[in-house]
Amino acid sequence: MAVRMGFVIITSRCIDCDACMVACRAENDVPIGKTRNWVKSSGVQGKFPNVKEVFRPGNCMHCEHPPCVSVCPTGASYKRPDGIVLVEARKCIGCKYCITACPYDARFANPETGKADKCTFCLQRLEQGLQPACVQTCLGKSRQAGDLNDPNSVVSKLIEKYPTRQLLKQVGTGPNIYYIDDVVPEIPVGK
Ligand code: SF4
Ligand code: SF4
Repeated sequence: MAVRMGFVIITSRCIDCDACMVACRAENDVPIGKTRNWVKSSGVQGKFPNVKEVFRPGNCMHCEHPPCVSVCPTGASYKRPDGIVLVEARKCIGCKYCITACPYDARFANPETGKADKCTFCLQRLEQGLQPACVQTCLGKSRQAGDLNDPNSVVSKLIEKYPTRQLLKQVGTGPNIYYIDDVVPEIPVGK
């Protein structure tokens, strides 16, 4: 079966340390004031003493049907056979159509280049057999990445064992980040 790269994010394991954002910035030379990934807070929920706050890490969902790709007039935005969605800077004319089309607000205009910018799944690291910087750095192991079509991958094992949900599933983009909420799973052994 073809490779389908994606993420599993376990919100209960995130402590909002923001190390993933720092790691991404350092690895990918992200301009100051912009970010390729994020950690969002639910805000404090409930009434004292029964209160909780959930942290939701995220980045480009590397969608199955990415609107950022279909609206791009030059073919600069494209989806690789392994599912990773990228921008070929040479072809990007900076029209920002893709930034408007993304329902996850996962793209920005790079102020230094004028081109669309976003998470690249740390392709330069994957090609060396390494995990994306955000995954490698995550202290709580909240962020996991791998081949969603490989039953022996950590991400597949987590999806098989625990309930997951995808953000804005109803808009039909087929986001390839699966969130596990409310449980604190052990991280299985896998690729
Ligand atoms: S999350 Fe946004 S930028 Fe990423 S593939 Fe989906 S539509 Fe494109
Ligand atoms: S590094 Fe992990 S624990 Fe820290 S903020 Fe990012 S996702 Fe959460």
